[in-house]
Amino acid sequence: MAQNITAEIISVGTEILLGEITDTNSVHIARTMRDIGINVFFMTSVGDNEGRITDSIRTALSRAQVVITTGGLGPTVDDMTRQGVAAATDRALLFHQDLLDKIAERFTGFRVAMTDNNRRQAYLPEDALLIENPVGTAPCFLVEQHGHIVISLPGVPREMKFLLAERVVPLLRERYQLGIIKALNLHAAGIGESALDDLIGVDLLESSNPTVGLAAHSGVVDMRITAKADDEALADQMIAEVEAKLRERVGTYIFGTDGETIELALVRRLQAHMLNLAISEIGLVDAVSARVKAAPDGLVILRHVEQFNSPAEISADLDLGDMAVKTAERICQESGADVGIAVVSNPEQQNDHADSEVGTAVAVYFDGQVSSRVYGFGARAAEARSWTSTWALSRAWRMLEATVL
Ligand code: ATP
Ligand code: MG
Repeated sequence: MAQNITAEIISVGTEILLGEITDTNSVHIARTMRDIGINVFFMTSVGDNEGRITDSIRTALSRAQVVITTGGLGPTVDDMTRQGVAAATDRALLFHQDLLDKIAERFTGFRVAMTDNNRRQAYLPEDALLIENPVGTAPCFLVEQHGHIVISLPGVPREMKFLLAERVVPLLRERYQLGIIKALNLHAAGIGESALDDLIGVDLLESSNPTVGLAAHSGVVDMRITAKADDEALADQMIAEVEAKLRERVGTYIFGTDGETIELALVRRLQAHMLNLAISEIGLVDAVSARVKAAPDGLVILRHVEQFNSPAEISADLDLGDMAVKTAERICQESGADVGIAVVSNPEQQNDHADSEVGTAVAVYFDGQVSSRVYGFGARAAEARSWTSTWALSRAWRMLEATVL
């Protein structure tokens, strides 16, 4: 059975607290912990201040079996993680001549002179386990305190990542019986997050292992199934069971898994039924067509593309919804395509208010039927392009899904 291990992450550096750098190290460490089945309940950032570093390490050690620090191991006076770990674990800092020799060796290799500052890096808390750093000068180390451990890694992301993957993860696997965590993403379109939530049901959404989480972005909703298990086969099986339930409940909205895009799903569906596609982009040039063209085999099913910079170029009547509906049908008739997608946005009629019903219209024509909708923002509104193209592609995909067997 996998043990339930909890880790905390502490990033050290005043730069982080001043907002000058983004703490990407903690993000990377958190993901790594997730992948090896270790829970992270707290992440702390602390400045280059010995007292506060000490406090945060002490607090973290009282809550978690594993504390990982990043940053503050350099040779300068403001690098205080070493002192912080020593103080938090009631140890002295001891000088190691062999460590200094190794640091000196690296400097010789680089043909740069070592400064006196580097002596600082040859100090480690008493009884610390040295974690060799072949990619930098800052030695990292592990200190054990009452069965809990603190591991201190450098702040330079490249060094930190290397040591985490090559030294820390193996060490944690050796020390604890860790399980693995696997995840599968199912992508849904043509339904909003809350409607999907209702259909999925609380039994799945509140399950603790596997968990099911929803995330909506630009017209697509992801359902992420995450399973924690002793081994990969078991995790796969747990995921498959939940996936089957989700497909039973909301399968008609699922267009793909892990990284599959809506344009790819549409292209595949068109290919499967030997159908082809015409696209009209009015006021939103290259929104949909560029995505179809970039998808594998997209060019194979794409029969016709027409583009206009503004609806005024084709009609004086600027009812966008109406224009989209008529255009979707017209391009099929003119080009002989089976499916027509029309998007119409009026750059003259800007409106960034989501509650307004003017802005962008999407229509899909197939087999004598039209499916259309008008959305409340115009062509220049931020993200209009990605939202509109996703809506258009998913509307087409849904329409085929509902019509062709
Ligand atoms: P060095 O021995 O190189 O001085 P260090 O352990 O002292 O390493 P820091 O001085 O804290 O590390 O950071 C070195 C650089 O690494 C920073 O200037 C910053 O660019 C980057 N860095 C530090 N911490 C983080 C972090 N949490 N997330 C992303 N980048 C970081
Ligand atoms: Mg530094």
